[in-house]
Amino acid sequence: MKKYQNLINGKLMDSKSGRTFENRNPANWDEVVGVFPKSNVEDLNLAIAAAKKAYKKWRAVPWPKRSEIMRRVAEIMIEKKEHVAQIMTREMGKVIKEARGDMQEGIDTALYAGIEGRKYFGYTLPSELPNKSCMTMRDPIGVWGLITPWNFPIAIPSWKIFPCLLSGNTAIIKPATYTPACVGELAQILHEAGLPDGVLNVVYGGGSEIGEGLLNHSDIAGISFTGSSDIGSRIGEVCGKTLKRCSLELGGKNGQVVLKDADLELALEGAVWGAFGTTGQRCTATSRLIVEEQVYDKFVEMLKARTEKLKLGNGLNEDVDVGPTVSESQRESIHSYVEIGKKEGAKLITGGEFYTEGECAKGWFYKPSIFIDVLPTMRIAQEEIFGPVLSVIKAKNFTEAIDILNGTIYGLSSSIYTNDLNCAHKAIERAETGIVYINAPTIGAECHLPFGGMKNTGNGHREGGWTAYEIFTEIKTVYIDYSGALQKAQIDTWQ
Ligand code: NAD
Ligand code: MN
Repeated sequence: MKKYQNLINGKLMDSKSGRTFENRNPANWDEVVGVFPKSNVEDLNLAIAAAKKAYKKWRAVPWPKRSEIMRRVAEIMIEKKEHVAQIMTREMGKVIKEARGDMQEGIDTALYAGIEGRKYFGYTLPSELPNKSCMTMRDPIGVWGLITPWNFPIAIPSWKIFPCLLSGNTAIIKPATYTPACVGELAQILHEAGLPDGVLNVVYGGGSEIGEGLLNHSDIAGISFTGSSDIGSRIGEVCGKTLKRCSLELGGKNGQVVLKDADLELALEGAVWGAFGTTGQRCTATSRLIVEEQVYDKFVEMLKARTEKLKLGNGLNEDVDVGPTVSESQRESIHSYVEIGKKEGAKLITGGEFYTEGECAKGWFYKPSIFIDVLPTMRIAQEEIFGPVLSVIKAKNFTEAIDILNGTIYGLSSSIYTNDLNCAHKAIERAETGIVYINAPTIGAECHLPFGGMKNTGNGHREGGWTAYEIFTEIKTVYIDYSGALQKAQIDTWQ
């Protein structure tokens, strides 16, 4: 068990409140992973003041110099990859291979930031008037509040921290209370890489106290949030009132479509990985499987057999496929959706209960579960369950499959398995999701491509790639007049 402290102005410190909270291993609730300060507004105010002070100097550091620090961060992350991955599995439960992948996404994002600082550019444009030039450039925005969920404890904080800081902003991060240790480790790495004091501050604590404190503070210029749509809507509301920049990455109800001509073995592997990887606790998890009726019965049979072979257990064991859910309340919430599905008349063909064999008796394990004959209007086909529960829906044909795919309030990721070139292209065109996969599962983002969703999955921003830098910068338009005379735009002519 390790004791973590807030990081404020480069110093590690306890909360002024004197309070702490623990996080426990969801695969073994007797194991305390870490103890963290349960911070209050006083701590937060100190952190915001430190970030505000650091901003003046940090924004003046040239982009390429800031990006050198990011490259150094990547190097240290590579050295510490296994160490942090083990902490991640212990605090969040995802299997060790996936924890290494989560860390790798952070490394890739830091490497990307390490080069982006040398190429991020504005553009020049001609003027309407002679002896005058016009250009755009990018400015940082100020002090950011970064609020992150627990399901990607390194990747999501990395997606925010690196572009935010590289752009010249400073920040306070409030990690999710289930996975604070990973952010503590990441902040330590940034410190070792030479990030100046106060540029990144970490304040641990709950959403209602520290999260709300960030939203409502007048020295916070922007909020970058990833989490549920309910909390996201609240954040958008406050940011709207206080005119803060705000990027929201929210929930999903992602669907995989399997057409009659698809390679069924390939589609099967994709569905099982998409639905039950990370115990279904991914924003891009495959939550709905939409199968064309000609192959429905056969595919359902294959799916049940394959799912029942998945091995549950402590994610630190290399041969385990599915770890625990993150917490008791998460498992309860998942189970309540299984009860809802049964009441709605969907047919549960496997799972639907806690898994308590052997060592798993002390963890929040839930069996991978499949409902078939789900109707698109049922709640289990509409609401984000965020667990290992897959709803299988039958479609009459391609057109109906796409209508079902699009028939939710969310629009994060979709997947279509087919070998029909025309259907593949039509699906790409019609899918109302920010990410579309062809012959691949609904998950698998790469750090240099835009990531985010349509509809209620967000508010139009994209993390990942250079689009992340649009979130964290303001455009400045510059006119330079070298005529030596007053030239009036729209009034003077060039002659
Ligand atoms: P959550 O919304 O419960 O919490 C997210 C964060 O917000 C936490 O740090 C929490 O402490 C904080 N918070 C809670 N109330 C707050 C408030 N009033 N003001 C400010 N902050 C507050 O989400 P979660 O349970 O941690 O994560 C699961 C959710 O995240 C799912 O809905 C999932 O789809 C979504 N998610 C989305 C993406 C994406 O990129 N679209 C990625 C991962 C997870
Ligand atoms: Mn939550």
